[in-house]
Amino acid sequence: GAKEVERALVKELKRLELDNEIKVVDTGCLGPCEAAPVMVIYPEGVYYGNVQVEDVAEIAEEHLLKGRRVQRLLYESEEDAEIITPYQQEDVFPGEMRIVLRNCGVIDPEDIKQYIGQDGYKSLGTVLTELSQEEVINMVDESGLRGRGGAGFPAGLKWKFTNQAEGDEKYVVANADEGEPGTSKDRLIMEGDPHSLLEAMAIAGYAVGANTGYIYIRGEYQLAVSRLQTAIEQAEEMGLLGENIFDSGFDFKIKIREGAGAYVCGEETALLQSIEGERGEPQVKPPYPPNEGLWGKPTLINNVETLANIPVIMEKGAEWFSEIGTESCTGTKVFTVSGDVEKEGLIEVPMGTTLREIVEGFGGGIANGKEFKVAQTGGTSGGCIPKDLMDTPMDYDSLAEVGATLGSGALLIMDETHCIIDVAKCFMHFFEHESCGKCLPCREGNTRMYEILDRISKGEGVLADLNKLQDLADVMSNSALCGLGQAAPTPIMTTLNHFKDEYLAHITAKV
Ligand code: SF4
Repeated sequence: GAKEVERALVKELKRLELDNEIKVVDTGCLGPCEAAPVMVIYPEGVYYGNVQVEDVAEIAEEHLLKGRRVQRLLYESEEDAEIITPYQQEDVFPGEMRIVLRNCGVIDPEDIKQYIGQDGYKSLGTVLTELSQEEVINMVDESGLRGRGGAGFPAGLKWKFTNQAEGDEKYVVANADEGEPGTSKDRLIMEGDPHSLLEAMAIAGYAVGANTGYIYIRGEYQLAVSRLQTAIEQAEEMGLLGENIFDSGFDFKIKIREGAGAYVCGEETALLQSIEGERGEPQVKPPYPPNEGLWGKPTLINNVETLANIPVIMEKGAEWFSEIGTESCTGTKVFTVSGDVEKEGLIEVPMGTTLREIVEGFGGGIANGKEFKVAQTGGTSGGCIPKDLMDTPMDYDSLAEVGATLGSGALLIMDETHCIIDVAKCFMHFFEHESCGKCLPCREGNTRMYEILDRISKGEGVLADLNKLQDLADVMSNSALCGLGQAAPTPIMTTLNHFKDEYLAHITAKV
């Protein structure tokens, strides 16, 4: 409904002769998805939620003409709205800290001047005119930034390996495939602040010695594709991409490649195959992309969220960044919160924020007065966390200790009404469908696990099925070719670990 609201607002501003003073700007998702369509009025920074076409005349007349807030549409309480100050998004949601989402909902993503107005491309200028490649890589390294795509590999190390690799040509690739169900953080960054990704890629290109970057983006993200395309053209026109950027002698161009919807193409070697025009199938590693990647050349692959941190790290320094979050997991993380919470949406919080703080704070607790049962973290290949682990800090290491993963930051919250076997079956059905079929442990393992879960869910399971699930999980995690097959059993095994009684009840009581 946002487009209709926008059209009505433009018309209303014209009628009130405010159209020369007030600009209506399209942005990306603002975070509070459950309150969509959302409108933010600057400079006050007041959020209106669930805005309908019928509300537009009142907002225009009361707020824009007379300067009075329309109370019934305020997204937060009046007190909360009071603390929102122009161009400071940290206070939008309690406990939120925006680094990668710093410009989302603040600037017009289709206007490069607004990005520059927020000090955009300043870091690129500093890097190209004042810092050596080694200094840039050391800053990334010392910041402690870890890959936000799922694996949490130290970004600085990847940059170092790609820089040190021999090659007449090198590449930077932004992994914007974001195929993980329940995740839309990269979409939000690309739709709301596309230049931050371009600037980061150019900095990365300089640091590792690459002159070409590719954004591999999922084909469904057409708005993000068009905004990135516009951003590339604007940056080239202003000499911020292309040849001899900032008169530094450094050239960097960026191309966009659209994926066709295969989940496995988020895996880096499959992604590279897809860019090359081959079937998107994972390859045996080593060699790793920093040594032999796109067209056999050294290639740095980073996730969009990882890259969006880079301009800020360059501007504010590695030390500043490393003090946010936990000792081993620095910075912030964007979570996509969905499921049985009062408020679904996206939130960026320091690493180490607990699951309880996110569910009860940002999420507003479990909807409809129900009880929390389980949270699945990290997307389909993440793990399931029961109620007694709700105080687990959300960072790579703490989640690994309880058998779960941070993954892409997807957080699917489920209440007490969900059957855990049905949940597990649903995950396994997804992997059965998305397995590329190249290696046997994954191709057969997912299908066999699904069959067992299906049997148990129908009350036809036997105790030996639990051992079979364990055996299959061990084989898959140890011998599948890529992360998809290796991680596919994780959510199943965490449900078995934490909800064994429910499995047993299905088997023994035949429920
Ligand atoms: Fe394909 Fe699965 Fe093997 Fe990965 S683990 S290569 S997705 S069959």
